[in-house]
Amino acid sequence: MDRSKVAPQETQPIGPYSFEEFLEMARSFHSFPAPGLLLGGYMVQKAKAGLEPETLFEAVVETRKCLPDAVQLLTPCSTGNGWMRVIHLGRFALGLYDKYSGQGQRVRIVPERLQEWPEIRDWLFKKRPKHQQDTGQLLTQIGKAGEAYMTSEEVQVHPRLLGKHSGGEIGVCPVCGEAYPVQDGGICRGCQGESPYERTSFPVNPEPARAVPVEKAVGKHALHDMTEIIPEKSKSPALRAGERIGAADLCRLQKMGRTSVYIQENTPREQGWIHENEAALAFARRMAGSGIGFETPPHEGKINFRTKQEGLFVLDREKLERFNLLPEVICATRHSDIMLPAGKQVAGCRSLPLHLSRERLEQALTVLGEGPLFWVQEISPAKVGILVTGTEVSQGLIRDRFQPIISDKVEKLGCTVQSSRIVPDGKQAIAEGVRSMLQEGVDLVLTTAGLSVDPDDQTREGLREAGLDSELYGMPVLPGAMTLLGRIGRTRVVGVPACALFFATTSLDLLLPRVLAGREITRRDLAGLAEGGLCLGCKHCTFPKCPFGK
Ligand code: ZN
Repeated sequence: MDRSKVAPQETQPIGPYSFEEFLEMARSFHSFPAPGLLLGGYMVQKAKAGLEPETLFEAVVETRKCLPDAVQLLTPCSTGNGWMRVIHLGRFALGLYDKYSGQGQRVRIVPERLQEWPEIRDWLFKKRPKHQQDTGQLLTQIGKAGEAYMTSEEVQVHPRLLGKHSGGEIGVCPVCGEAYPVQDGGICRGCQGESPYERTSFPVNPEPARAVPVEKAVGKHALHDMTEIIPEKSKSPALRAGERIGAADLCRLQKMGRTSVYIQENTPREQGWIHENEAALAFARRMAGSGIGFETPPHEGKINFRTKQEGLFVLDREKLERFNLLPEVICATRHSDIMLPAGKQVAGCRSLPLHLSRERLEQALTVLGEGPLFWVQEISPAKVGILVTGTEVSQGLIRDRFQPIISDKVEKLGCTVQSSRIVPDGKQAIAEGVRSMLQEGVDLVLTTAGLSVDPDDQTREGLREAGLDSELYGMPVLPGAMTLLGRIGRTRVVGVPACALFFATTSLDLLLPRVLAGREITRRDLAGLAEGGLCLGCKHCTFPKCPFGK
């Protein structure tokens, strides 16, 4: 192009288009020629000019306003085809980059250079209300300025933006039944409360209960438990749901700071709203599995769950997450896989609003499904064989301390020690020891020590010689990393590392209840113990009331 022929007052082209042509394109695409879209056209061209020709590029835009449209008009990149990402940082800037290497050009506005272009400056900084804006002047300045107040720089985009933009596995949301990316959680983001729509499937009644002034509530019936909290002393219902409000309650309610209350007489029951107590009961019936009981009626809208028998408390973690992803309902529990006696509280659930919509109730029940959320798994007491390995112990040079420690742990769980032997290190000796225990009919073999990297450590070899199967060696628990799990025939085998001599609580304490509950343990189960698998080694061990193994 012969530059001398372009007079300074003329407009700059936008790539292959004259400014006027682009103005028309913008009008038909965006319904009006938005200033942001027009100057965005220059930004796109400037970024493109910085790339090698023939580069396969993608775009990243830092504002949702107008700029994405410029990219869609002038490049093959769109949000729909996944080649443009809008990362809304609120900055009027965009980048085009090589889709493989991530190298590219970022173009932005330089505010200082806008001194020469006051209309553009006032538009960008919103100096004037829209109706006072001289759109003709503004568009003329945009066309004349071209790229004058922009700058571009070389950038390298973050690796996470490169490669395939796959959203991962797609599943069906159990609440709405629509397809969604599984990585969003157990239910879709729409059902987690991010849906842009109001509820529509039942009559809209934003205020299901109407409050009345306390003075007017005398003789009526309380709609819900009203809690009186005396700091550090007590927290109990001053009035229970359904209770008649007497004249004497008036003063008490006022002292509690209540000026108005919800009463039963004023509640439209027929409109698809479920009282918190009813909702909590409906949840509780689905949640409680065998060995779990709950107290009725609900207490202040909440239901508490307790163990009815001793055993391993087990929780469906995924289901718990799905339930709690729903707005307006909650369930809090103890950790899964802990041994508990009968009568211990393990969970509480409630609806948050006084009235839950029927729709929400149904969503929650769908998520809970038919099966329980938590239950108590009984443990069956085993006949235990303890095999202590170590030449120094078998020769009597060192007194064995393993047997009393292990016996104590298994007996606490109701097991009996049927057989106990001390054998020297050595594959054959260990294998023979195990075999003779099996002949005595033990159904759980615990071997101690010999699991480390020492050349004398031959427990694994010996167990394999005796027919060890389904071996899992090593687990992300400290102390107890070198633990071994497996089977010989139908007999379970646990190899206890020597650290059990020194530490009060180890991997063995986590594994024993699971093994006795008949649980098949996989490498994945063990990996799941990693978080919380670090024992804090407290002076006074309070396990299992501590984070270890949770
Ligand atoms: Zn959904």
